[in-house]
Amino acid sequence: MDNKMYNKLGICDEVVKFSEKIISELKERFDKIDETAEYNQLKVISAMQENRVNATCFAATTGYGYDDVGRDNLEKVYASCFGTEAALVRPQITCGTHALAVALSAILRPGDELLSPVGKPYDTLEEVIGIRESKCSLKEFGITYSQVDLLADGSFDYDGIKAAISEKTKMVTIQRSKGYQTRPTLSVSKIGELIAFIKSIKPDIICMVDNCYGEFVEKIEPSNVGADMIVGSLIKNPGGGLAPIGGYICGTSECVEKCAYRLSAPGLGQEVGANLGIMPSFYQGFFMSPTVVSGALKGAIFASRCYEKLGFKVVPDSTESRHDIIQAVELGSKERMVAFCKGIQAAAPVDSYVTPEPWAMPGYDSDVIMAAGAFVQGSSIELSADGPIREPYAVYFQGGLTWYHAKLGIMMSVQKLYEADLIDRSIILNS
Ligand SMILES: *Cc1c(COP(=O)(O)O)cnc(C)c1O
Repeated sequence: MDNKMYNKLGICDEVVKFSEKIISELKERFDKIDETAEYNQLKVISAMQENRVNATCFAATTGYGYDDVGRDNLEKVYASCFGTEAALVRPQITCGTHALAVALSAILRPGDELLSPVGKPYDTLEEVIGIRESKCSLKEFGITYSQVDLLADGSFDYDGIKAAISEKTKMVTIQRSKGYQTRPTLSVSKIGELIAFIKSIKPDIICMVDNCYGEFVEKIEPSNVGADMIVGSLIKNPGGGLAPIGGYICGTSECVEKCAYRLSAPGLGQEVGANLGIMPSFYQGFFMSPTVVSGALKGAIFASRCYEKLGFKVVPDSTESRHDIIQAVELGSKERMVAFCKGIQAAAPVDSYVTPEPWAMPGYDSDVIMAAGAFVQGSSIELSADGPIREPYAVYFQGGLTWYHAKLGIMMSVQKLYEADLIDRSIILNS
């Protein structure tokens, strides 16, 4: 490798050598990731061909958006690709939390109970459900919530789940990704086992999977193993970095129709919702997504191996199988977290000159640091890192639209720690 460009960007020869050595050890894993990306690329192309995608699909509509061919066809493409009867894919779904809130409130009615059999859901859902008090929460509408935590070894508490299912249990929410927790991420096949177990107890329970950060990491999705609905954000994996907004819900026709009625209005459903010219980015983003996800995954594994070598705890470790794109690194001190984030920021194509600093954020009991230099604001399929400044001083790192950018970001984080003498420099020098 010619180091000149890396040197120009501020990375020294020692860090380049350390990185290249690690990458040479990861060849087999990267080959597996490429194979999955290739399979998923074909899956997307096949779905697009099946639904005869053509230039009229890219036209803008305004107003009510009646007869929006591009919008309707994109939903068919998602449904074909994820193996569902129907799909709702809309710029009017503002983010992942919104998509999940729509799906929950479309299905649940007063007196019903929602069950999470995989522990606490993602932070923002606490207010949606009413775990934390909020206006307009499901709780305010008389919908109750119960939760069964995973066992200490990360497996399902089948006895607890069985005991928690009652006449009232209408819906189950299963979060695939660990999010910002320390539990393991669930594989699609594990999710399938859980759904089968739940349906064996009460077959009419609607099983929804929060699929955020999981799309295209494996060759199958939770919709292929019995989920009634899968839900996610277009500024994560399936938007491929090109979608500037949006969310999706794929599932049975009955569920998706209810979600559409909830999103727009009863009676209107999927018939309305102009696309305002956004379709090219939705189609092209979905097309790019398997490749983008593969780059992000390589970045996560590279980061994992780098920091493992430097003596830090990483979750998952560099040999575990992957079911989402998030990588946690426990850095053990505030100074290291700041240096790491400075590196990610300094490697960005946008806002690289900005210095991330910890600050107090609403909803957190400690300061938080974030690094991101994204084309789409808040997009976490783009290279980004963040974490609360508290024990164990872990940064959560994800994304990268290309493998080369993810690689640069991680190298830059190592460089910043190296320069500030916050890591054992001999490990770098002796690599
Ligand atoms: C990101 C995320 C969400 C929420 O999505 P937003 O687009 O941030 O609202 C929900 N669940 C999981 C697991 C996520 O990773």
